[in-house]
Amino acid sequence: MLKSPTSCALALALMAGACTTLEPASVGELKPGTDWVANSPDWASEAEAVFAEATAYIDQIAATRPSGSWGVILDVDETVMTNVTYQIERDRTGTSYSPETWYEWTQREAATLVPGAADFIVHVNAKGGHIGLVTNRRDTEQLATERNLETLGLRRHYEFQVLLTRANTAPSSEKDARFDLVPEILATQGFPDVEIVAYVGDNKGDQPAQAGDWKFFCIDQGGMYGDYCAEVPRSG
Ligand SMILES: [Mg+2]
Repeated sequence: MLKSPTSCALALALMAGACTTLEPASVGELKPGTDWVANSPDWASEAEAVFAEATAYIDQIAATRPSGSWGVILDVDETVMTNVTYQIERDRTGTSYSPETWYEWTQREAATLVPGAADFIVHVNAKGGHIGLVTNRRDTEQLATERNLETLGLRRHYEFQVLLTRANTAPSSEKDARFDLVPEILATQGFPDVEIVAYVGDNKGDQPAQAGDWKFFCIDQGGMYGDYCAEVPRSG
């Protein structure tokens, strides 16, 4: 699969980075990335394969570290929950992402699970790991996001311990400061000295900028949003 420049046309402003050019879709026509996520079995099988790889790594971690001493940080959109329905609606109406339509979408609490994500999160908990979610959804969207996650069986305290959005007015979608906060928040909750051993995301910025003693697992989201970390389906 090749990384197609035209896929950058669907970049979300909330993940603004390398992809800034917006290209209107033809009315009614799904873009290749949207179509791949919505209709190809490869999307689900690729996501499940990545989570299986992450699960195997977690099993190694859990075998050598005390329960409660480690954790995993995941992105939310196109990593835990898919918003392909939102993107289908954009493509069908020939429109692009806007903060207003995105906010309305989040309030519907209608995002669905990325295949493999929930099982992975449950597995991490069962093995004694903590789960932190760090998302570029806005703080104004946090309540709806948590309700959406809960509908999908992912509840604060039970399946995840921390969920960090970004301020509505934040000038940057950079996540490093919030990554650093996750162990600190866990410490205040009674879990000191937690080491983050893995990150899971669909964008390059879903891992720390500086290399460290952790692994990154990349979910292929078809090149729909942002500075995606996976190659995307060939468009032609
Ligand atoms: Mg994402």
